[in-house]
Amino acid sequence: MSIDKKFVYFFGAGASEGTAQMRDLLGGKGANLADMASLGLPVPPGFTITTEACAMYGEIGKEKLFEAIRPQVNAALKRLEEATGKTFGKGPHPLLVSVRSGAAASMPGMMDTILNLGLNDETCQAMIELTGNERFVLDSYRRFIQMFSDVVLHVNFDEFEHALEAAKKAKNVKLDTGLDAADLRKLIAEYKAIVRNATGSDFPSDPMEQLYRGAQAVFDSWDNPRAIRYRQLNDIRGLLGTAVNIQAMVFGNSGNNSATGVAFTRDPSTGDNEFFYGEFLINAQGEDVVAGIRTPQQITIKGSRKWAEAQGVSEEDRKNNYPSLEEAMPECFKQLDAIRIKLENHYKDMQDLEFTIENGKLYMLQTRNGKRTAAAAVKIAIDLVNEKLIDEKTAVLRVEPQQLDQLLHPVFVKSAENKAEKLCIGLPASPGAATGQVVFSAEDAEAWAEAGKKVILCRIETSPEDIGGMHVAQGILTTRGGMTSHAAVVARGMGRCCVAGCGDIEIDYEKRTFVIEGKVVKEGDFISLNGSTGAVYLGEVETVAPELSGPFGDIMKLADKYRKLGVRTNADTPHDTEVAVKFGAEGIGLCRTEHMFFEGDRVKAFRRMILVCERVKRIKEAMDVRSVDELLSKITPSDEGYDDVMQFKSALDTLLPLQRGDFEAMFKALDGRPCIIRFLDPPLHEFLPHDEKGQAEVAAELGTTAEKIRNVVSSLHEMNPMLGHRGCRLGISYPAVTAMQAHAVAEAAAAVKGSKPEIMIPLVGNVKELAAQKAVVLKTIAAVEKEQNVKLDIKIGTMIEVPRAAVTADKIAEEAEFFSFGTNDLTQMGCGFSRDDAGKFLGDYVKWGIYDYDPFQVLDTEGVGELVRIAVGKGRSTRKDITLGICGEHGGEPRTIAFCHEVGLNYVSCSPFRVPIARLAAAQAAIRSAK
Ligand code: PEP
Ligand code: MG
Repeated sequence: MSIDKKFVYFFGAGASEGTAQMRDLLGGKGANLADMASLGLPVPPGFTITTEACAMYGEIGKEKLFEAIRPQVNAALKRLEEATGKTFGKGPHPLLVSVRSGAAASMPGMMDTILNLGLNDETCQAMIELTGNERFVLDSYRRFIQMFSDVVLHVNFDEFEHALEAAKKAKNVKLDTGLDAADLRKLIAEYKAIVRNATGSDFPSDPMEQLYRGAQAVFDSWDNPRAIRYRQLNDIRGLLGTAVNIQAMVFGNSGNNSATGVAFTRDPSTGDNEFFYGEFLINAQGEDVVAGIRTPQQITIKGSRKWAEAQGVSEEDRKNNYPSLEEAMPECFKQLDAIRIKLENHYKDMQDLEFTIENGKLYMLQTRNGKRTAAAAVKIAIDLVNEKLIDEKTAVLRVEPQQLDQLLHPVFVKSAENKAEKLCIGLPASPGAATGQVVFSAEDAEAWAEAGKKVILCRIETSPEDIGGMHVAQGILTTRGGMTSHAAVVARGMGRCCVAGCGDIEIDYEKRTFVIEGKVVKEGDFISLNGSTGAVYLGEVETVAPELSGPFGDIMKLADKYRKLGVRTNADTPHDTEVAVKFGAEGIGLCRTEHMFFEGDRVKAFRRMILVCERVKRIKEAMDVRSVDELLSKITPSDEGYDDVMQFKSALDTLLPLQRGDFEAMFKALDGRPCIIRFLDPPLHEFLPHDEKGQAEVAAELGTTAEKIRNVVSSLHEMNPMLGHRGCRLGISYPAVTAMQAHAVAEAAAAVKGSKPEIMIPLVGNVKELAAQKAVVLKTIAAVEKEQNVKLDIKIGTMIEVPRAAVTADKIAEEAEFFSFGTNDLTQMGCGFSRDDAGKFLGDYVKWGIYDYDPFQVLDTEGVGELVRIAVGKGRSTRKDITLGICGEHGGEPRTIAFCHEVGLNYVSCSPFRVPIARLAAAQAAIRSAK
């Protein structure tokens, strides 16, 4: 990158150098500030130092970069002074600025911000003379010292908080506003002493030094741990860094005719467009709104009344103490409401706005596409189509597929919720229902979740450090803060249920308890949260399936209209099948029959078969017969092993009707949709217990000795079972099992009219394996057809999950009518990572960037994907109309789905709850690839 380029872009009324399209260079905030100024909105002027400067800062270091950008910064500052009529670092009209981060992708609260920069003793005095408001200026000064010292000088924030608390205590006041000018002067002196003590130097008084150190801190904050974690969790990659926005300060804390607030053009929780949704505080700075120390007021009268009702605040109390902006500052409200409409029409999306009112004049500080819950995302996308602001394809692209997950999961059963013991009502900050055990720190949340527990993270308020814990929690409960507090905003973005601002709850971090009206709730106790109403309950509350009609149904219809990929499901019970069909599955892409063997009587019969299968195989070989039927016709009761052969046969006879019943139930649930039945796959030892107690129990159940069970387990033992005797290798050794399964499928197909079974042979690596198994299947089907005098149409295909199968797919397609990519095993064998053991190091691999994602979750398109590409090409070269699908875990993962679309698969198959996600992701892939 050349150092000789434009690094600084000015913005201001009619004079913006940047545009909305320059997000990558100016960051979202910088680009939109420039854009808003160009639209003629009241934006305080300023300038943006580009993300390229941030990248250069990392490359060539601070000295060289600052030397290169200094002339541009000086010129921009001069322009800013002209635009504002103020001077930076000098009276009589000192220019104060804010210094804020802003990357191309929104990362709320993750990086640093400094307000009131440019204050020192001299400019402070000039400001006092200018405004005649000593208290306000001193309050700004002490805030600046505190923020700058925290962000730039890394002085412990708590020290300032302690000093502030002590000052309030000495004065016997609760709020900062209770401190007068003299108190603040004393506090400023204390703050400076704290800085001197901590750093060994005086607080920097040169505004230019403040500016550059501030900019440097913003650049550094790009790589602070919480920003890195945020990017990881939100999969934000490939950005240059953050821009730095330096903007003339306007003051929402300069008196009772001033205010500051944040607003959403539509409700970010529900997507409703009923009223202008937002919060503000009179005589405050932005941080006060998000910090949740004071109770924010609502923008509209309607919103304010709704809030008061939920909070149990009387109309009288509301009007006197918490009036809406519409009531308190009607002119500013009108202007802001007009701006809301203008911005939505301009950006064609719901906006998240920050504004400040200084002495009755409104300023816009930020606009960006607002973070929203899945319910809101879906409703807003559909509403914007209906309002003709966006087209259908744009609407489909507006909803994050993974986010749909929030809409698919249960909500509380009404009657159970009605009966539950309500502890209190907080703010419904992020919808959904959550039940879990109480923990009081993000670290505990992560540790408990790691141990498999469901937790509710309870905090007085959350901070960006808590995001790891928030991510793993079922729900989040805070006792402070409003709908735009950190907890609320982040939880909505994550799709986590959140109840915020439960002021009646008192948390004691030390005792690990919270108290509500005398009731003590301890760490580990269960509570339940309703994020849609704000209710908090003691204990666990039963949940119910969600509503799938309305805007959700509409967006799914649009997805179906534009997608090219089919979407099937992986299911092996009628219940899961019904759920998946409700979610829109077009058939079953993988029915793992072994799961059926684990149930009740089946496992008993299956174990009886396993106990003797090796012995029967040996007898067959000794008697030189090819099938169990042939063996039965030759063997007599006096022959050795006769009882074992009979046990084998009777076990299979027991299993046959059970399997047939299973398949019939599946076919009925599918109601004419296709069903791929995958034949027995796991190694047989998985069906027997490995512990002594379990073995004794099975022995008693099967009427044999524990020693016999132990011996069979040890004879089935393999060093490497995932590469051992499993998949079609079992069917090759024990064709009678394959025949029994084929028999059950054929009879069930004959019994259920309209069923469409497809038989899938697993773990094929060599076409001869498939040919051998197919022969058994065909013979069995023919026998059933003859016996029942029916014609059955049952396709036979295979999984492509062994690399050898992928590279010989042309040969395999000679036998297979369809392929389904088993990308779990294909990843295991393609990358050489054990499915069972790779968890130990794959986390590090992803952290170090060796793999971008865990290859068992997101398909490694470069390697394993290449095997898929080869197999697609070779498969189709032999059989043009071969049906191709995927049924590994990757089949429900949006990036992998885009890959499947690109390589031309016919369908993806995934677990029932991922079916809607897959439908939407498939549509997005089709729309994007057509662009
Ligand atoms: C696969 O390997 O991708 C697959 C679907 O089969 P299983 O997970 O049952 O091995
Ligand atoms: Mg497999």
